[in-house]
Amino acid sequence: MKKGRVFSGARPTGKQHIGNYLGAIQNYVKLQQDYDCIYCIVDVHALTTLEDTHMLKANTHDMMLDWLAAGLDPQKSILFVQSHVPEVMELHTLLSMVTPLGWLLRVTTFKEKVKMQPHNVNYGLVGYPVLMTADIVLYKADIVPVGEDQLPHLELAREIVRRFNNIFGETFPEPQAKLTNFPMVLGLDGEKKMSKSLDNHIELAASPEETTRRIMGAFTDPARKFRNDPGHPEVCNVYSLHHFYTYLKLEEIGKQCRAAEIGCVECKRMLADNINKALAPFREKRAQLAEKYVDEVLADGARRAHAIARETMKEVREKMGLP
Ligand code: SF4
Repeated sequence: MKKGRVFSGARPTGKQHIGNYLGAIQNYVKLQQDYDCIYCIVDVHALTTLEDTHMLKANTHDMMLDWLAAGLDPQKSILFVQSHVPEVMELHTLLSMVTPLGWLLRVTTFKEKVKMQPHNVNYGLVGYPVLMTADIVLYKADIVPVGEDQLPHLELAREIVRRFNNIFGETFPEPQAKLTNFPMVLGLDGEKKMSKSLDNHIELAASPEETTRRIMGAFTDPARKFRNDPGHPEVCNVYSLHHFYTYLKLEEIGKQCRAAEIGCVECKRMLADNINKALAPFREKRAQLAEKYVDEVLADGARRAHAIARETMKEVREKMGLP
C-alpha cells in the first residue's frame, strides 16, 4: 500500500546533466517505491521566461528520454507534459479568483524575475504560483518534494488551497512538503551550480570521450600551479564531484592531494572513469529506448492524468456553482 500521492514538475530543459540527476531525478526514482507519483514536464511554466519556443518540443522529448533511461517507470508513475492536460489552465483561472494580488506581488522570485527580464514582465510571471498550485491540486496530490528554498512557494499554494476550501467547501487536500536534501552540484567552472546555460555541465547522455574531455578541462584548486604544490581539496570542484562518484576513496584522495602525492591530471582521469562507469547502464538503456516509446509514454501519461483532472474539475465547477 502506497503512502500517498506525490506531484513534482520540472521545466523542459532538454538533455539532463549530472546535476539534474543528483539533485532531483534520483530522488524521483526512489519515491516511486513508496508513493503514487505524478511527474510532469511543465512546458507552460517555461513560457513565462522563454521568448524563443522553437526548442520546446525537442527539449521535452529529450528530457523524458533521460528520465526513462534513469529509472522513471511509467508502470509505477504517471509521466506527462503539463499542456497535454488543458484542465490545468482552467483551474489556474478559477484559483486566481480566490488569490489576492498582494500575495503574489510579495513573492521573492517574482521580484527577482522582474529584475532579470525587465523587458518581459508578463502576467504569467506574477501568476506562476497560482499555476503551480493548480498543477498540484488538479491531481489532489498530498505530497510535494521540495528543497528548503522552495518552502515559501508551497506555503503559498497551501494558503490558496485553504482559501478555496473555506469559500467553497473542502475540495483539495493541503499539499505537504516532503523536505528533501537536494545536493548542490557545482559546475566544472567551480563557481556556480551546474547548469546547461553556463555550459559548465556534463550531460548524462554525453559520450565517455566527451565526458573525459570536459572533466580534463575543469577548474581545480587555483593555488595548485605545479605538480608538487600541496592542494586544498575542499576548494576543488573535481573533489566535490568525487563525493558522488568516488566516495569510497574520498578520504584517501583528499590526503594525497594535500601531500601532493597525486596530480590533478591523474585525479581528473579517475573521476572521469568513475562517472563513465556509473553512467554506462543509463547510456546503454537510453540508446535502446525507441523514439516512439517516449511518445507512447507521454500519450499514456496524459490519458491517465486527464482522467484524474476531469473528475477534479467536475467537482470544482459544481462547488463553485458554475452553471
Ligand atoms: Fe583537485 Fe584532485 Fe587536483 Fe586535488 S589533486 S586539486 S582534488 S583535482
